[in-house]
Parts: sequence; structure tokens; C-alpha cells
Amino acid sequence: MTIDLKNSITEALKDQNEIFGDFLFEKLEKNKAEVSYENLTENIKLPEIESTLSDDVNLEDYNKADTLQKLNSLICECMRCPLGSTRTKFVFGVGNPQTKAMLIGEAPGHDEDLQGEPFVGRAGKLLNDILKAINFAREDVFITNILKCRPPNNRDPLPLEMETCIPYLYKQIELINPKVILCLGRVAATGLLNKKLSLGQFRESEHEFNGIKVIVTYHPAALLRNPNWKHGCWEDVKKFRKIYDELTQR
Ligand code: URA
Repeated sequence: MTIDLKNSITEALKDQNEIFGDFLFEKLEKNKAEVSYENLTENIKLPEIESTLSDDVNLEDYNKADTLQKLNSLICECMRCPLGSTRTKFVFGVGNPQTKAMLIGEAPGHDEDLQGEPFVGRAGKLLNDILKAINFAREDVFITNILKCRPPNNRDPLPLEMETCIPYLYKQIELINPKVILCLGRVAATGLLNKKLSLGQFRESEHEFNGIKVIVTYHPAALLRNPNWKHGCWEDVKKFRKIYDELTQR
């Protein structure tokens, strides 16, 4: 089987798993849960985590940041997980720091890693169009990811990486204080809401994170592979816009 075909089949299976959850993929998920850095070290040479910890970001310092800019400058050299050594650029997030609408994706991909900005590749172009359709410019919202560094070969984030990185997202949310959040895809929703549901289940209802409304929709990369899911995405983003309007026009 060619690499391209194998990649396409893997992506298609991942999309199905995203929508329907573990029901069809129990074995695959079980195997995934067993993946850890320890198991991976057999094949991949990993950086010495111990030796990078002395230069670690001081947790207390970054928690004291009172602006996004300060937060970024305190965390942008983070080496708390091995992705710090494989990234090209730390991808903090972009947008309006005063916005009341935040979008959260999964992790930087190839283009984002090179440019240091989330959603700048093909999926990003589609995301811009989705935003435009609900009368938002990219600059009106704040866009970031669960992980700030790219996982090699665009593999799914590992639980350890998500646990390590999520405090940065919490701090971003605290500083921005949005009224509504749109999670793009199951990984983003699972990371933020700390619930293991399928995307289909996440999309069924509105959620809350620290009193902030959360809507979940498809990841734009999944929409590129499955254009027939765009209709469902349109319904979700209309909901997102409606909540934003209701909560900001009071
Ligand atoms: N996919 C994501 O989840 N985030 C990005 O920034 C780019 C692609």
C-alpha cells in the first residue's frame, strides 16, 4: 500500500472515530491508550526531559501574567514536554485580546509550526470562510489550540502533552474572559471539557466551562475530507453566533 493511500485510510478512519466515538474502534482506542513516551522510546530517540527541566517555565510566573502578551513571553520557550524540542515555533494564538468569542483547535500542523500562527494552512482558510459566513473576521475572535506545539507527523496529541499544555489554555481563557467558546473537533472538546464523548455526542448539546458557554463543531480539516458535514457545521456555528449576540448585546 502506498504511504498516501495508507494516510488517507487512516484519516478517514479517524474521522469516523471522531463522529461515532469508541463504539466501532474499541481496540484501536485501547492501543492508543497504551501509547506513552516510554513505549515510544523503543523507536524514536527522545530528548532528555530531565536536562531541560532546569530551564523550565516557572509556573508561578506565568500565572501572574496580566496580559496575553506577557503570558506569551513567559511561556513561548516552554520545554515542559518533548514537543518543545521538535517544534519550529511555539503557536500561542492570534486575535483580539478583548474579544468575547474564542475558538479552540487541536494542535498546530505543519504550516502553523512554520509560521507560529494557528490555522494558517488549508483548514485555516476554510475556518476563515466559516467565520465570514457568521459575520466574524479572523481579527474579531481569538483563535488558539489545546497544544501550543506541533505533534510530529500530525499525530493526535498524547494525554501527557494535553495535561502539560492545558494550564496555558486555562490562563488564556482567564485573561480573555470570553462569553462563548467554539471547540473545533473532538480533541479540542475532550481537552477543554475533560469529558470523553464522541463528536456526535458533544454536538448534541451546549456545554459550559467555568460559566462560559461552549459549542462543539467539526474540525475544519475533517470538513475538507467530508464536505457533506458542512451542513452540520453551519448549524453549530449559527448557534455559536446567536449565543454571542445574545450575551454581548445586553
Ligand atoms: N489544526 C488545528 O487543530 N489547529 C491548527 O492551528 C491548525 C490545524
